[in-house]
Formats: sequence, C-alpha cells, structure tokens
Amino acid sequence: MAGKGSAMSMHEVAASFGGLGFGSGRPVIIAGPCSVESEEQILSSAHAVKAAGATALRGGAFKPRTTPGSFQGLGEAGLKLLAEARRQTGLPVVTEVMDAGDLDLVAQYADVLQIGSRNMQNFSLLKQVGWVGKPVMLKRGLSATLAEWLGAVEYIKVGGCSQVILCERGIRTFETYTRNTLDLSIAVAARAQSGCPVIVDPSHAAGRPDLIPALSEAALSAGLDGLMIEVHPRPQEALSDADQQLDFPAFQSVMLRLRLLPVEAIGTVDGCRSEIDRIDDEILALLGRRMLTAKRVGALKQQMGLPTVQPDRERVVLERLSALASPGLGPCEVRAVWEAIMGCARRVQERVV
Ligand code: PEP
Ligand code: MN
Repeated sequence: MAGKGSAMSMHEVAASFGGLGFGSGRPVIIAGPCSVESEEQILSSAHAVKAAGATALRGGAFKPRTTPGSFQGLGEAGLKLLAEARRQTGLPVVTEVMDAGDLDLVAQYADVLQIGSRNMQNFSLLKQVGWVGKPVMLKRGLSATLAEWLGAVEYIKVGGCSQVILCERGIRTFETYTRNTLDLSIAVAARAQSGCPVIVDPSHAAGRPDLIPALSEAALSAGLDGLMIEVHPRPQEALSDADQQLDFPAFQSVMLRLRLLPVEAIGTVDGCRSEIDRIDDEILALLGRRMLTAKRVGALKQQMGLPTVQPDRERVVLERLSALASPGLGPCEVRAVWEAIMGCARRVQERVV
C-alpha cells in the first residue's frame, strides 16, 4: 500500500491515486450523487460532502442503466460540472467511463477513472483504460469471483497503469431484502492479494440508506482503505438510485459515527456534548482495560522479583507518546495526561487504590 512502509514521500503520497489520499492514515471517503443531474445538484453536493469531511467527489456523467429509457447521464456537460465542482471545492473527481470511445473525453476531466461493475470483464476497455496514465477504480463485477476480479486488475496493469483501486460494491445472492450482498471477506482478501487499496461502496451493496452507517463502520473496522457513498441533496427526486442515496444530514451523521466529521461541522452545543460523552465512554472503557493490564504486569513483575516502578520504562512511554502529539493534543498535554495515567497505574500496581 502506498505510504505504508514504503519509501514514498508525503508529497508523493498526497499526489498518488489522483490525490485521493490513500496512505495518509485516514480513510478515503468518496461521496456525491449517483448521477450528475444539474449545476445546483452537483455543486451543492460537492460543498456539503467536503464540509462533512469527504476527500473526493463522485458523480456519474455516463450511466450504466438497466433499461435504455432511463436517464443515461449528462455526458460531457456532466463532466464539465464535475470539473467546476472540483475547482470550487478542491475535491478530486471520480467518475465512470463506460465506453472506450469516451475514454479521452472522460480522462480530460476525471482524476480517477471508474470502471463499473457491468464492465469489470470488458477486457478491451480494461486494457485501454490502463494506457491512459490515470488511476483507475475497478468495481467488482455483479457476480465476479476473487480470481476474476484480480484477473481484471492484470488487464489494467498491462498498459502500464500501476495505480488501481478496488471497490467492493456487493454481489448478487439469493437475498432480496438488500439490493446486493456486501462481501467484506473478499474485500479483505482482495486487499491482501492485490496490494491495491480496497474501498467499499455500501450504497450499491445495501441499496437502502438505513444499512449504510453500519456497513461503513464494518468496512473500516475490517481495515479497508475507504468508502464510496452516494449523497444527493434530495434523494427522493434523484434521476437514478433514488432509493439508496443519503441526504446531507444523513451523510453528516455517518461521518460523525466514523469519527471523520470535522469538529467545525458540529453545529450545536448539544451535538458537541453528545460527541464528548461518546468519547468519554470510550476513554473510560480503555482506561479500565489499561489499568487491569498494569495490574497484571505488576503481578508478573512481583513473581519475577522485579521492582514495580521502573522509571526508565515510564520515560520511554512518555517519549513515544509525546512524539505522536496531534493538533488536538500537544506534547505538553500528552505528558500531563500520561503522567496522571501512569501515576494511577502505579497505585493500582501497589494495590493502594
Ligand atoms: C456507480 O457507482 O455509479 C455504479 C453504477 O455502480 P456499479 O457499477 O457498482 O453498479
Ligand atoms: Mn448509483
């Protein structure tokens, strides 16, 4: 994976994969409507998803629809609107190319070229997209096996493309309650086997908004690299996939649940307080386990005839954590907090608490 244990500089990491930010340590969140429908729709979506912490904008200008009578996308006019949204927000654009004949056109506007599920085994398109010199996001076919998916990656790489992103978007099963079945097991295996970043699209997997928060959390907990989520200002009016798109508040709340919503986007005192309460609950649970572990190490030290207090070890802990200070917690605060925690741990070990 880019940036993890590799010799890539931070600048190279930021510029790779079309500027999506893989390798930065933060999940990549690609959000936006299923289709680009109008200037107001795509610009308002771009600003809303950016404010909620998304790292890239999605939107289809060429749409793979099940029937020819359905909205097929705005074509080049849609691509131009995506470019304007990028200009206003700075978000890189991910958009689908369906036909090799449109490749040059789409590549003029896209930062990442999306190959949709229905084209996962369109081998001539895969080869040609690999020659363009842009990162490619390859969605898993509707019923593709892992081997077939990885085989498709090879076709893209034949042309010299080294930046392929995989996207698990659910597969066909007997279940009809969801649109598709999210297959996290193969997403995890694909990441291990391909060495490519792997993201999950819970919108096309579930086909319903209510499951998107849990599936998103599950994907990131499984160690996957990001998400692609459909967001529309008025989902019920969408010209495609109206049943599965999130409105802006629902997307914000998914981002809050994932801890990816910038705190500046929390607009109320009550909102901040409930986030603080949630964080405190987690800190408390973790501190409880830390103290039990300290107690256990104290018992082990006693068995081995070692002193309970080892100032060298405490110094190492403080130095390691101070170096990890973040904008929210500077080195002085880190030191103060961990001195208190370690003081408490010492008391636990000495059984005076
Ligand atoms: C899409 O992401 O716009 C799309 C059409 O998805 P899929 O190819 O996964 O059906
Ligand atoms: Mn869609």
